[in-house]
Amino acid sequence: MIDIHCHILPKVDDGARDIHESIEMARKAVEQGISNIIATPHYNKGIYDNDKGLVMNETAKLNLFLDDLEIPLKVWPGQEIRISDELSDDFDNNEIMGLNGSQYILLELPSNHVPRYTERLIYDLQMKRMTPIIAHPERNMEIMKNPQILKELIWKGAYSQITAGSITGKFGWRTKRFSKYLVQSGLTHFIASDAHNVGNRGFQLREAHKLIEKNFGQGLVDAFNENAENVLYGMKVKEFLFD
Ligand code: FE
Repeated sequence: MIDIHCHILPKVDDGARDIHESIEMARKAVEQGISNIIATPHYNKGIYDNDKGLVMNETAKLNLFLDDLEIPLKVWPGQEIRISDELSDDFDNNEIMGLNGSQYILLELPSNHVPRYTERLIYDLQMKRMTPIIAHPERNMEIMKNPQILKELIWKGAYSQITAGSITGKFGWRTKRFSKYLVQSGLTHFIASDAHNVGNRGFQLREAHKLIEKNFGQGLVDAFNENAENVLYGMKVKEFLFD
């Protein structure tokens, strides 16, 4: 399995606190059947200044530790980028990057609303040949109230990624129910862990896949896995339009 959203890099954000915790997370990932992780530390200027260069360095360092310890996991560089109306400039200044350097760029919305400039930003990024992936839309309050907002962003060419813990119920029954609705409606393209630690924000990817398999069949689990692989290798993502 490939995990495209994970806070495994040490000491860069609210994920792994130090290298020991990163290694603990790596071991848990392997237990889950994960072979590749795209490290996606938060990028939010002034709060988390994890620019492209820093992420590439930290990822290389973590891989050396994993090699040394013979942990069969490979980590690739990425970012979870908080949207702002200056992102286009950050892209031009080479501060932000796609997942593993691909055209797929992981965007984080604020949790309580969808800013008015979101559509414009997505368009600007597309003009730069990037394809936005909206991280955990199932946890955005405005989208929960009005899923049409997400539908329109997806019609305009964005993708979305649901967090495994949302599927399993870690964020409450409302989020669980809404996640199921998004999967069922074809409004999501990826399931990823968004793991921050080995405690209350662990991986849960296997558990989520089991539930999707139970509710929707193995075919959809395979499609999600394939899509994660397509992102890692910068290939075309499979789209689902169920209605
Ligand atoms: Fe995250």
